[in-house]
Amino acid sequence: MTTKAQDGSAPVILWFRRDLRLADNPALNQAYATGRPILPVYTHDEGAGVRAAGAASLWWLDKSLRALATSLAGRGATLILRRGDAETQLRRLIDETGADAIFLNRLFEPAAWTRDADIAHRLKADGIECRGFNGSLLARPGSLLNGSGGPYKVFTPFMKALRARAEPPAHTNGPRAFGGAPHVAGDDLDDWGLHPTRPDWSGGFDWAPGEDGGIAALHRFVTEGLKDYADGRDRPAQAATSRLSPHLHFGEINPWRAWIAARDAADAGTVAPDQADKFIAELIWRDFSAHLLHHFPTLPDKAFRPEYDAMPWREDEAGFTAWTRGLTGYPIVDAGMRELWATGMMHNRVRMIVASFLIKDLLIDWRRGEAWFWDTLVDADLASNSQNWQWVAGSGADASPYFRIFNPVTQGQKFDAEARYVKRWIPELARLPARWAHAPWEAPPEVLRDSGVRLGATYPRPIVDHARARDRALAALKTVTAERQDAAAD
Ligand code: FAD
Repeated sequence: MTTKAQDGSAPVILWFRRDLRLADNPALNQAYATGRPILPVYTHDEGAGVRAAGAASLWWLDKSLRALATSLAGRGATLILRRGDAETQLRRLIDETGADAIFLNRLFEPAAWTRDADIAHRLKADGIECRGFNGSLLARPGSLLNGSGGPYKVFTPFMKALRARAEPPAHTNGPRAFGGAPHVAGDDLDDWGLHPTRPDWSGGFDWAPGEDGGIAALHRFVTEGLKDYADGRDRPAQAATSRLSPHLHFGEINPWRAWIAARDAADAGTVAPDQADKFIAELIWRDFSAHLLHHFPTLPDKAFRPEYDAMPWREDEAGFTAWTRGLTGYPIVDAGMRELWATGMMHNRVRMIVASFLIKDLLIDWRRGEAWFWDTLVDADLASNSQNWQWVAGSGADASPYFRIFNPVTQGQKFDAEARYVKRWIPELARLPARWAHAPWEAPPEVLRDSGVRLGATYPRPIVDHARARDRALAALKTVTAERQDAAAD
């Protein structure tokens, strides 16, 4: 064991988690400002009630850690990897190096927050300084409260409050060179097995995880997609959105940087202000989700409006499997689910459609869909995922009403009028004229024949009749609202 340096030069542990970047990183900047050697460490701890990352997230994490390690190496530092209970690993590192301080950017999910607070509490009792920062959100959860001092439950007032208080921080690149940290051994990332094997299903994952990839995505978006964002963001065949969500989730880019880039583009007149505003509003939805999860920790598990937990969900394994595989017979739903499986991503408009289909057309518990997304999305995020699933289910804080049931045919016709998106993901329908591509069962037999489509053979017939499923969903809703009225009368 190394003894503590007596001259104030003991190293500072920079504990990386989901802030895998060097730019605009408050914990790194503050650690550097101490003038002491910095020991960058990443711990992979799946215990303490923190929900284990899904398979697609682990794929991303693997690449993001490699990118971070390369950036750090370029500035003279080694990323130390440690797996297992975080506190045990941190204490080991303290023993090995004589470090007496830990700087970190906080995780705000309730279980991680509690774990980190407990660790900090115990380490502080042993004389270790622990300093936490907000490096992932525009506003620290808990810092924005409504007029009565409670949490906001509606998005628009939350957004107004956040905008009124918005103080974008100055951009920082992080230190040019690290130095002086003692050498300590870490794990070999290959041994963590984060990349899938047997089978490796990630062949279609066309991503550049890491800080450089995040900055490149932002640059591309601001120069190409932002000018038509407000309308283009609803059209899944277009590349009109930023694709920043996994980069934001893993903290490869600070959300303020995205905010500032959009605002600067509007100030420079290269995009209309309302386009930048719409994008910034979406960034604020991300914060709103984190804020809701912070104040309502059961968001991933329980309906925010409790009466919705009495919904008569169906057990329908065949329906669920068809949904996951993109074999429901509704092309826009199937295209979305196949895009998700192949790329780890799904367009937001299509996420809403497939979620509505699962919850309302199939009457399957939204939590099953949330879990599937959790495992398959590269941007899977506890707050955003559960908030959005509850939004579609109608059970969330500021949710779409349950009775608003998306019609998968008209949604497809409206937002994918030329059927380019559907045909990209469902090659079986590639030759079907766009007019029929969202409802192949309505196509005349000769059109189907000429397009090489044999319903029930090359592409499934719809697994439910939407009109009937809609009535069933509304009847189910009535049982729930009736229960609420009964409860109110009690
Ligand atoms: P852009 O349109 O470019 O938006 C910019 C950023 O704003 C996004 O990167 C994201 O960080 C944020 N954002 C945009 N829309 C939302 C939203 N509705 N809620 C919260 N933040 C938003 N997003 C996740 O990051 N992780 C999830 O696990 C997740 N699960 C979802 C589940 C369902 C059922 C639905 C309907 C939406 C979900 N979303 C989730 C929100 C949204 O679909 C994605 O953030 C978006 O598609 C990411 O693409 P983008 O980066 O190109 O978005």
